[in-house]
Amino acid sequence: MTASTNLISSGTTAREKVNLRTPEVMTAVQEQVESHYRSDIVDKVRRAGGIISVGGVTVRLAKQFGFCYGVERAIDLAYAARKVFNDRRLFIVGEIIHNPEVNEQISSLGIKNLLGNNKQANIEDLQPDDVVIVPAFGTELSTLQQIKERGCQIVDTTCGDVMSVWKRVRKYANESATSIIHGKAEHEETKATSSRALGDGKGHYLVVLTLADTDYVCDYIRHGGDKQAFLDKFRGAYSPGFDPDVHLRTVGVANQTTMLRGETEEVQRRIRQAIVDRDGAEGAARNFRFFDTICGATQERQDALRELLTAPMNLLLVVGGYNSSNTSHLAEMGEEKLPTYFVLNASRLVSRTEIKHFDLHQKAEVVTRDWLPDGNIVVGITAGASCPNNLIEETLLRLYQLRGIAPEQLAAAA
Ligand code: SF4
Repeated sequence: MTASTNLISSGTTAREKVNLRTPEVMTAVQEQVESHYRSDIVDKVRRAGGIISVGGVTVRLAKQFGFCYGVERAIDLAYAARKVFNDRRLFIVGEIIHNPEVNEQISSLGIKNLLGNNKQANIEDLQPDDVVIVPAFGTELSTLQQIKERGCQIVDTTCGDVMSVWKRVRKYANESATSIIHGKAEHEETKATSSRALGDGKGHYLVVLTLADTDYVCDYIRHGGDKQAFLDKFRGAYSPGFDPDVHLRTVGVANQTTMLRGETEEVQRRIRQAIVDRDGAEGAARNFRFFDTICGATQERQDALRELLTAPMNLLLVVGGYNSSNTSHLAEMGEEKLPTYFVLNASRLVSRTEIKHFDLHQKAEVVTRDWLPDGNIVVGITAGASCPNNLIEETLLRLYQLRGIAPEQLAAAA
């Protein structure tokens, strides 16, 4: 965690910059954060090489999982803001990260949510004395502008890796290249990135999620087609005034930081090939550009899971919020190889015969029966960048409990 100045002056009221990360504040923050999210057992298993074996149940942890540097920083800053501004109203622009337990903790600090399903307050009601936290995903420029107009102080926890993507799409806009963003159009990060892709107002963007979306765009690049059908298909995923006949001439590909690397590379490759087919290699050198914006933490977690999946295992548990993009991709990787259960927390391990887990295809929580084999088994566990270690510990304890192994036995073996 490296940031220094975290509070920016903003809005119509002049405000002094305040450094939230004083040693005194950060010592208190670290204590509180650790008490909420740390796990002794997970730390011990990690130090022991990521393997624990008790009573015929072996658990292998991925080498990298859980909170990333961007999430740690955002949480630290939110807790620090609460301490420094203990007499002010605090708000946050949406969820701090995609994990319900962490969001509940933030809410319990009296930090009210301004956006999304769990909205608790309105931006229009903000006062100049209020403090507003921008989460690690960043936020749309129009939202930021509204907050600035209310004169509030802003604690900006946007991850540096997200800001790198913004820099890239702004560059595309300056070069009159449309940003094709590989991501989820409704994801906070992609919405924030899309707003930056407009540049000074003349830029455009199109968001593609799947390889099927990409192929549709490639077909249009090569042969043109029914413009209205194109606009209907991608409704909600392109910039105002976007015209595929005009704005697919010169494109630059970027991606949400938490996508699957292999898929993002394939999106780049297919779009480049479509431009080569239309414009020739020389034309493509002018009309196509790309920049890989998968973040380091996402990459490390995917690489660590790829390595874990080379070991023989009976099943994989992926722990995290169901709306977490990077966690979903870990579950996707797992289910290609072995029975994989994407669980919100330990409570989803209902019994030896029943597990509740998120089905990526049905986009809903489902129940699977007879999921936990008898006898000697090996279970892999990983978690996305928004999952704290205490939730991983609880999942580990529950797994062993279902096989009749008490927490004390596990703690003794760790
Ligand atoms: S997942 Fe990547 S981009 Fe997102 S907060 Fe973590 S480090 Fe930053």
